Amino acid sequence: MHKDRKLSKLKNTMLKYNKNFPGKNLVFSDGNKDAKVMIVGEAPGRTEDKLQKPFVGRAGKLLDSLLASINLNRSKVYITNVVNYRPDKNRKPTTREINEFKKLLFKHIDIISPKCILLLGATAAKAVLDHIGPLSEVRGKWKNVKIINYYLPILATFHPAFLLRQPTKKKSTLKDLLEFKKKLNN
Ligand code: URA
Repeated sequence: MHKDRKLSKLKNTMLKYNKNFPGKNLVFSDGNKDAKVMIVGEAPGRTEDKLQKPFVGRAGKLLDSLLASINLNRSKVYITNVVNYRPDKNRKPTTREINEFKKLLFKHIDIISPKCILLLGATAAKAVLDHIGPLSEVRGKWKNVKIINYYLPILATFHPAFLLRQPTKKKSTLKDLLEFKKKLNN
């Protein structure tokens, strides 16, 4: 099946989860479906829900400038979230929601089939690396993770929303991104 058809099928499946998030919009993805880089965040916020696009609020602006520092932009990456609806009152997704959406995320990754994946923040690390605990334990370290049928190199770094609160962590994030770029250009 063609990539576009697979993506629209997945989107239709996700639309069925709308009943668990009354009044919220599906925020499916942004960027280039043929990109070598896939980026996974946590869940949409208010602006993302409104515009139905991931990372378009304040954290999104910071993400764009971080990507620019390694010569990437939205035409060169594909962006989605673990949970594709905005949890009420900006709460963190529950473990149950993460586990439910994890299956869809793995399908999503399988369809896009990127060369490598960048995870943003602890929720993405929990869903994809099964890591429970501080992100600092896993960030900046490449992991090979089996996504359905194939192993993919995956790197976790800090979430841009966290960097807005803790700007001193930007330095280690930039280090992670340089590491990411190295693998991408390999
Ligand atoms: N934070 C996320 O994790 N995802 C978004 O799309 C926006 C903010």
